[in-house]
Amino acid sequence: SLGDSPTIKKEFADTLRKLILATPKSSSALFFNQLFGGRNSKAVIGDLLAVLLNNSMATYKISGPQVGVEKEILLQVKNLIGYKENYGGTFPTGGSMSNFMSLIIARDKKNLDIRNTGVNQKLIMYASDNAHYSIAKNASFSGIGRDNVRYIKSNSFGCLDVKLLEEAINIDLKKGYTPFYINATAGTTVLGAFDPIDAIADVCEKYDSIWFHVDGAYCGGAMFSAKYKHLLKGVDRSDSFSYNAHKMLGTPLTCSIILVKDKKYLSGSFSNDAEYLYQTDGDEFNLGKTSFQCGRRNDALKFWTLWKSLGTNGLEKIVDQQFILADVARDYVRNNSDYQLYSFDDSISICFNYKGIDPDVLCTALYEEKETVVGFGNFREDTFIRLVTING
Ligand SMILES: *Cc1c(COP(=O)(O)O)cnc(C)c1O
Repeated sequence: SLGDSPTIKKEFADTLRKLILATPKSSSALFFNQLFGGRNSKAVIGDLLAVLLNNSMATYKISGPQVGVEKEILLQVKNLIGYKENYGGTFPTGGSMSNFMSLIIARDKKNLDIRNTGVNQKLIMYASDNAHYSIAKNASFSGIGRDNVRYIKSNSFGCLDVKLLEEAINIDLKKGYTPFYINATAGTTVLGAFDPIDAIADVCEKYDSIWFHVDGAYCGGAMFSAKYKHLLKGVDRSDSFSYNAHKMLGTPLTCSIILVKDKKYLSGSFSNDAEYLYQTDGDEFNLGKTSFQCGRRNDALKFWTLWKSLGTNGLEKIVDQQFILADVARDYVRNNSDYQLYSFDDSISICFNYKGIDPDVLCTALYEEKETVVGFGNFREDTFIRLVTING
């Protein structure tokens, strides 16, 4: 609790110690709960630096060479996913915000007047029924409306069914509605499934260039792996792409990146004149012209220190290690009759049940007995434990 008088040093230290000791340790090797865990010391040093330097990434005037840190990562990621020279990008506060920004850009591209008049037409967006829950929230925040999200039933592997997607678009077109946005997932939150990006890009092109966003928050990091980047095949055909370095790459929370194929749409939606702020230098170096926030921590620095010290080959090893661990865990589950497997190959989520025990009960017992921290999830009518090998 907080009070009117200052806290003396000793008491202050004791209180902090209590807080630390009582906090769940996400860096423990027993932590497999959410889609982050562990941490890389080379990334931690960058995050500490960002705190100590305490710049804001809005302008070159206040962040100086740190602008180059952010721009270098955007350039490297652009090369990895195969966008061309017109690309733009920024570091949003997370994967949910990345999805939100992509939705706003898509909405404004469909009708720039919406920025002034609000949404007056029936705009329809599409995602798989396994897409991240931020899709629904973002539909509401953006004025599109939750009722205008079409959740396309996924196939038995949890991937978006392109035939059903096309059917849904046709139904909406017949009704006179305007399809404008498709969100595909590279690594669904529960199963770690990859939507068929190439085939979805075909559909987007066919129907009056619907904006195509690839949400790679969870497994977009697979792009660093020669062995697994095929899971993202076709991502160069998307209009925007996002991923979280705080998931597969093991930087501290949060480090999220969005790339937009044509930067004019990013600044079209997110730049605003502010004379009190933008006083020097060209907009290329005033990153606040393409970000959501004004005051913004340098989230790129922790990823840059990691990348700088390990090289791109080192990042590939981090990603491959997670797939190797997943293979080990999946083989164990497959070859042990006490377990039943619910997830599939090429995923770092291993979903299983043990001896038919209620996964909710089992997870809670493991947590309370301090054995390990895992979560549970469901797909269709099955509920199961989800072990995530992201803590490499
Ligand atoms: C984690 C996740 C998000 C949300 O990212 P946050 O950084 O937690 O907001 C979005 N999409 C997918 C597929 C995710 O796994």
